[in-house]
Formats: sequence, C-alpha cells, structure tokens
Amino acid sequence: MQISHVIRAAISSVVAHSVVVRIAPWWTNDRVLFMLAMIVVIVAGTTMWIFTLRHRVRTQTAELRKARDAAEQANRAKSQFLANMSHEIRTPMNGIFGMTELALSTDLTHEQREFLTMVKSSADSLLVIINDILDYSRIEAGKLTFDSIRVNIRDVVAEVLKATALAAHKKGLEIIYSISPEVPVEMMGDPTRLRQVLTNLVGNAIKFTESGEVVVAARTESRDGNRHTLCFSVRDTGIGISPENQQRVFQAFEQADTSTTRQYGGTGLGLAISQRIVQHMGGRIWIDSILGAGSTVSFTVTMEEAPPQPEREVQPVASLDDLHGISTLIIDDNATNRRILLEMTRHWGMLPAGASSGPAGLQELVNAVERGQPYRLILLDEQMPGMDGLEVIEKIKADPRLQGVIIMMLTSCDQLSSIARCRSLGVNTYLIKPIRPAELQETIRMGLGAQTTRPATHAQSTSPARQGRMLRILVAEDNIINQKLATTLLRKLGHEVEVARNGREALDQWKNGNLDMIFMDVQMPEMDGDEATVLIREQEKAKQAGEHIPIIAMTAFAMSGDRERFMDAGMDDYLTKPVSSEVVERAVKRFSCFLPDPTHSDHNRPNL
Ligand code: ADP
Repeated sequence: MQISHVIRAAISSVVAHSVVVRIAPWWTNDRVLFMLAMIVVIVAGTTMWIFTLRHRVRTQTAELRKARDAAEQANRAKSQFLANMSHEIRTPMNGIFGMTELALSTDLTHEQREFLTMVKSSADSLLVIINDILDYSRIEAGKLTFDSIRVNIRDVVAEVLKATALAAHKKGLEIIYSISPEVPVEMMGDPTRLRQVLTNLVGNAIKFTESGEVVVAARTESRDGNRHTLCFSVRDTGIGISPENQQRVFQAFEQADTSTTRQYGGTGLGLAISQRIVQHMGGRIWIDSILGAGSTVSFTVTMEEAPPQPEREVQPVASLDDLHGISTLIIDDNATNRRILLEMTRHWGMLPAGASSGPAGLQELVNAVERGQPYRLILLDEQMPGMDGLEVIEKIKADPRLQGVIIMMLTSCDQLSSIARCRSLGVNTYLIKPIRPAELQETIRMGLGAQTTRPATHAQSTSPARQGRMLRILVAEDNIINQKLATTLLRKLGHEVEVARNGREALDQWKNGNLDMIFMDVQMPEMDGDEATVLIREQEKAKQAGEHIPIIAMTAFAMSGDRERFMDAGMDDYLTKPVSSEVVERAVKRFSCFLPDPTHSDHNRPNL
C-alpha cells in the first residue's frame, strides 16, 4: 500500500510539470519509404494478376472456340452421316418394296402370297422406324423445315383416316371423324407435318385399342382475327396410359409399359416427334387417359386462314334445298357414329332419326309407316352385332310395307366382298367408312335422283382406269435392281421405257429426242442426276421456246433441303424411295397432262 501510494504521487508530479510543445509527425522518412515500397509491390502484384487472368481467359476462349468448332464439325458430320445412311438404307428398301409389290401382283399360291404379304408388312414397319429415327435426328439437329402453303383441314383429316381405316377395320374398330363447321376450309400451314402428327396419333389409337372406336375431332379453340387456334383430338377406347406415364411418353424412346413393347412394336419416338412438330406450329399436346378405359390425345396448332384465291375458279356451293326435309333413319350400333351422322344430316336440313340395332331400326320403319310418315332414306351400318346390315336389307325387302325406301350401306374397306351381296339384294349404294361429309352428301343426292356436278364415288376403285396415252419414258438409274423395278412398273402401266446408267447417258438419250418424261436418280457415277438436269434445262432454253421435258427425281435423298436442291436444278417433282407403283402412276399421270397433244407431235403413238 505504501509503495503504490509513492508511485502514484511521483507520476502526478511529472504530469503536472510537463508541457507538450508540438506533437511529433507520423510521416517519418522511414515510414514514407515503407509506404511507397508497399504501393509499388501492390501495383506490380495486381498488374501481374491481371496479365495472368487475361492469359488464362485467352487460353480458355481459344479452347472453347476449338471445342465449339469441333462440335459444329461433329454436328455437320452427323447430318451428313444421316443423309448418307438414309440414302444407303432407302436404296435397297426400294428394291424390297417394289419387287415384293410386283411379285404380289402375279399369280401366287395362297402360301406364297401370305409369305410375301409378311415381307411387305415387315418392310413397312422398317420404313416407319427409319423415318422416325431420321425425323428425330433432324429435329435434334434443328433441321426440320416447315412449309406455309394452303391446307384443306378436312382433306388432311380424311386422307389420314382413309389411309388408316384398313388397319382399324381389320381389328373391328369403328373409325369416325367430325370437324366443327366453324373450322375454315383452308388455312396456311404445312399439310405434311399436320398429316404426320395425325397419322401418328391415329396409328397409336388403333395399335393400342382392341375393341370399340377411334374418334378424331377438330374444332376452333380460339380465334384472333384471321389466326385460328385449332384443337384436334384423337380418342380411343383402348388400354389407356397411367397418370405417371402420361408425361413420360413424350420423351424420346420412352414407352408407357416396356413389357408391351414387344407386343405392339414401335420406337417410342412418335409422340416426341409429334410434340416438337406441334410446338413448332405454335401449339401444345397433351393426354387425358384412364388406364384400361381409353385415351384422348389432343393438340393445338395456330394457323392463319388462307386468303381467298381470286384466280381460282369459284366452285359453286351446292344448294342444300334438295336435301331439305328428307326423313332419314340412321341404323348404326355405334353411338358416336350415330350422333355424328345425326348432327351432319340435321345440319343439311334433313329430318334424321337414329336406331341402335337392326331390329330397333326395322321397328321404327314400321312405326313410321303406321304414322303415315314413312322414311325416304336409310343409312345402314353393315357390321352390327346380332342382326347385321345385310339381314336388315333382307327383312326390308321381304316386308311389303317397307318398299320404296332408299337404302345406303355404310361399310368398311375389308368388307368389300359383301358389296356383291348388297347388289344382289338390290342395294347398289354403299359408302366406305370413314365417311367424308361431302361424299355422303353427294351420294344422298345421287340416291334421291337430284342433279350432281360430278359422278358418284360409291366405292373406292380397286383398279383405276388406265387412261392416257403410251409415253416414252427414260429411267436414269445406276442400281440394277432399281432399274429393273422402275422399268417393270412403268411397262406395266403400258409405257415404253429406256434406261440410262448415269447422267451422261441420260443427257445423250434426251438429245436423241423422242422422250416424253425422265425419271432421274440423283446420285449416279460419272454425272449426277442434278447436273444432267441443269444441262438439259440449259439446252432446252437454247433450243426452242416452250420446250420442257418433265424430269422427276426418284431418289433416296430424303433430308431437308434436298427437295429445294432438286427443284433448283430444274426438276419438276421429287419422289422419295421406296416408291410404290401407285406413286409412280400418279406422277406419270400428273405430268402427262402437260405434254403436247400426240396428234400434233411428230411421232404418233398409239392411244391406250
Ligand atoms: P411408339 O408408339 O412407337 O411406341 P410413341 O411415342 O408414339 O411411340 O408412343 C409412346 C408410348 O406411349 C407407346 O409405346 C405407348 O406405351 C403409349 N401410347 C401412345 N399412344 C397411346 C394410346 N393411344 N393408348 C395407349 N398408350 C399409348
């Protein structure tokens, strides 16, 4: 205690006697030098760091650029590989398809026909798979192109259903469609892509349905001026898709139930491709389904209404007066079909009623006679359980009270054999399902004896009349099998055929004259088909005004951009291998009408 007291007193005395004159400066020479050294070090460090960083960025950018170039190169190589693969596969496929078709048109034993039919159906499946894979790769590479041309929505839907009807009828499925009246007749869009999506969905609906019906419907979902959002739906009564699988099936190579893959086949690409196409057309696609009860796959697309075509001859709109008030009985066991036929005929001003079976229909016919208002027309479904259409006709014919009524039979394409029976019963009006409204209207008019502008299309013609004249056609093709196939197909159509093995020979043969048409392969040794076409077009220009030989590319190139390439070279059309006899015949017919009249030509050829 004593010591601390003394120290504290000493400190107080020093403080009391000290005076601060000036505070010593902090910036001593040493400190300034130290600070300058620090600044130099920091600046030097930062500069070095920036340089290192820039160097690193530069190296990394160069590496990225290299990687991007490599990826682009790989993508180009992939597209090229695809184009080559497509070409290489299609060339032999053409031989398999065509030769099988030709063999099937000859006299065969039942067994041989069965074997060849199986070859054809396997080739069909293979082609579907190849097309799916190619399409998907095109989408991946961003190479899918879309047209914007006039599309008749009703025609597209009808074509898809006509093409798939046989498969549906073979399984005993009803295939039905209805398009709401507000859907414009013509829109601007890509009919091929729309057909592709619908074909895929209808194909799936048929594939996954064992009994019941497949119904395609189209309506306008919304409208903004001329832009319509159309909604298409494909409903089936098939196996359905579970809720957890409804999203998954839109992924590439995904199938709802892999155990069924073997049973139904398929690549699992159809819905993925359809989704991309629909998105490209400004729409979306979705599924409503109950497992075991059926599915509805719907999609929308946005399209402009097509502008009116002033130059086109305006088709007179058929008046509905002659159909007005015609009492009609629709006898069909399928409720959807009945409803659609009822709506359609009612819309035309007719007075329809429905019956869901043969006996119910017969009863209603008798009741109507007793009411004093007999039916004038019967639309009769052929395939019905219990009493089928033919039995109904027999009963009607046997009942004196029911005479005078017009009967139209609705039949499926695999039932054509019963048409003969129909005829023997005095019914010669029948329509093949799915029924196009315009076709039905026209046939009803015919049946009622009203005036029509066109002849009736009662049944599909199995063997179209081979009208026209014999043409001299050059086939330029290096592949021996495809040469043989094209020449046989054309000779069977009654034309004279010459063969060239490459573009140079084709050019020489054209120079010799007397050719009416050329089917030109594209990839050939010595001179390609497009090069030969360019030379022919140049020489035509130099020769005589107006001379133009139809040149049709018949090629295995099926990638996007190919068509443009061929058209730029001066070709008139483009057929993708494998080609069927029907496609070749259609192409010949299409172009033969542009040929000069043979009676005015210097070489007279016999008319067929
Ligand atoms: P794929 O039919 O070639 O297998 P998709 O992409 O068209 O390929 O269909 C994918 C899967 O979605 C089918 O394998 C099937 O499991 C399911 N699916 C598609 N449509 C239907 C349908 N209408 N009914 C039941 N399942 C369907």
